[in-house]
Amino acid sequence: MADLLELTPHIFLVKLMNATRTNIYLVREAGGDTLIDPGPVGTAPVILGLDRRGEIRLQRILVTHAHPAHAGSAARIMRGTGVRVWVHPDDACYLDGREPPLLPKGRRGQLMAALGRVVDLCPPVFRLEQFQPGVPVGELLPIATPGHTPGHVCLLHAGDGALISGDALLTDGSGPTLSPANLSEDPARARDSLAALRGLSFQHLLPGHGPPILHDAKQRVDAFLSRAS
Ligand SMILES: [Zn+2]
Ligand SMILES: [Zn+2]
Repeated sequence: MADLLELTPHIFLVKLMNATRTNIYLVREAGGDTLIDPGPVGTAPVILGLDRRGEIRLQRILVTHAHPAHAGSAARIMRGTGVRVWVHPDDACYLDGREPPLLPKGRRGQLMAALGRVVDLCPPVFRLEQFQPGVPVGELLPIATPGHTPGHVCLLHAGDGALISGDALLTDGSGPTLSPANLSEDPARARDSLAALRGLSFQHLLPGHGPPILHDAKQRVDAFLSRAS
């Protein structure tokens, strides 16, 4: 079972225990629900169950990046519902089967590689769509923030003033923080690309891991970016 926790008028956290503690978000839109980062492979049965019972009505899946912790269950949910999966062109090859799954760097990546020998961490997605610069998908505008992975994006929901930040910006108990450098493809690029967030207007930060920051997120992100640069 999973509960939906309302964060903003149109965005919910899908409260679903998963091995990588990935935050899974659902955005209610006029045509149905958009799932953002469906999580690692094990989440698919629960999400498909919600859809079958009519508690959610999936119309598409967006992923912030191709790490299996965020996108591993996309293929199975796609097959169970027929919805398409969206990703940035620079991460597409890791989801459509052209390249092996993209694993984090460092020890966590080594552990996942060992697991990957017995479990398919990121089955290929055949109904893949690719973000275009500046073109929203439904209510969500992709903001390229490469570095953690080559095609990492944040997703801005301007109507609700919410920035869904994937692993470009995480949170811990004290506020915004960077993903550990040793998990990222190119940590320096990841840090530099956060400049793209400075000009955005938002009040809520919904990270890929860690508690959402509601209401005063913009000030806290700006303060963090000033300290970090
Ligand atoms: Zn990641
Ligand atoms: Zn992550």
